[in-house]
Amino acid sequence: MEKEVRRDKIRGCLIGGGVGDALGYPVEFRRENAIWDKYGPEGIQAYEPDRRCGKVVITDDTQMTLFTANGLLMDIAARRCGNRSEQDPPAIWVYRAYQDWLTTQSVRYAEYRDCEEKGPCWLMNIPELFALRAPGNMCLHSLEEFRAFGAVRYEDLYKKRNDSKGCGGVMRVAPMGLLHRADPDLVETDKLGAELAMITHCHSLGYMPAAVLVHIISRLVFPQKEMTLEEIVIEARDAVAKIYADDENLFKLLLIINAAIRLAKNEDDDLTNIHKLGEGWVAEEALGIALYCALRYQNDFSKAMIVSVNHKGDSDSTGAVTGNILGALIGYEAIDDKWKEELELRETILEVADDIHYANELAEQPELTPDSKWLEKYLRK
Ligand SMILES: [Mg+2]
Repeated sequence: MEKEVRRDKIRGCLIGGGVGDALGYPVEFRRENAIWDKYGPEGIQAYEPDRRCGKVVITDDTQMTLFTANGLLMDIAARRCGNRSEQDPPAIWVYRAYQDWLTTQSVRYAEYRDCEEKGPCWLMNIPELFALRAPGNMCLHSLEEFRAFGAVRYEDLYKKRNDSKGCGGVMRVAPMGLLHRADPDLVETDKLGAELAMITHCHSLGYMPAAVLVHIISRLVFPQKEMTLEEIVIEARDAVAKIYADDENLFKLLLIINAAIRLAKNEDDDLTNIHKLGEGWVAEEALGIALYCALRYQNDFSKAMIVSVNHKGDSDSTGAVTGNILGALIGYEAIDDKWKEELELRETILEVADDIHYANELAEQPELTPDSKWLEKYLRK
């Protein structure tokens, strides 16, 4: 039973992220007046199919989240069954997965299918992932730069190559919080979450919010004691403050988390509160807006989703992060069917969630022989 609850939360986290992403995409670059003009004073309330393909689509946030998961699962498979003398750190596997994502943004599926050189991710077999949905420039640029560089070592990933704190790091790291690790205070988990964001975003405000997010998600999926969402957010804030105690930008992150907690309890309207937190183009603001929406509407997933995207900022990313948090809190089954039915790649997202769940089973049962289908997808090299 406990395992079924956990599986449901993992599914909820990834599907929730997809819901916020897909709902926010049509209003991502719209000014507020343009949103009210088109959708009425309450803003966008339901999915709007993409003008080009007529379907409800996910964007780079969910695409990259899936590739993060694929990378982390390849790492786990390698640790379990690969060559132990040649073990790479998890971030290298995730980096390889991000290179596959970059390929989906630069060639058509048909071209990829016919080419000799294939990437390591099984997700590359899914034509729908070869779609450009306003991908973040810094993600593209950083990964292209690495690609030009040739073989990348772990040390290379963490040379400061840019000063970006865009939200492209935090919006894709949720899977890190969904994997079971023997890490009771979550210090290693938090640092790894930040490392994954740092692959493309080297400003500390670009990666510290990722540590906060994976901490929160991990506590929601693997609770060790009864805690409210607010208590979890406070614990995550304090844990990350300890890890990055010497960072000159830490206070800005703490200010925004504290503001989100405070604003979630006041009587003001949502837009006034969200404006105080920013627009979400940068990671600390995206996290702040998501925390605000998740805390304020923790008992109403649909309302949280709607509020999280109806503003002039980076709507799909603030929606995606809000959905990751609340989906992990309430689980997949509790999400209204209207958000599931039309969501692009829902089956793929659920498959990845269940593969993460299976990896957790493996982590907890060292005697288990890994399932051959799972290994076929994730064991490389
Ligand atoms: Mg996006």
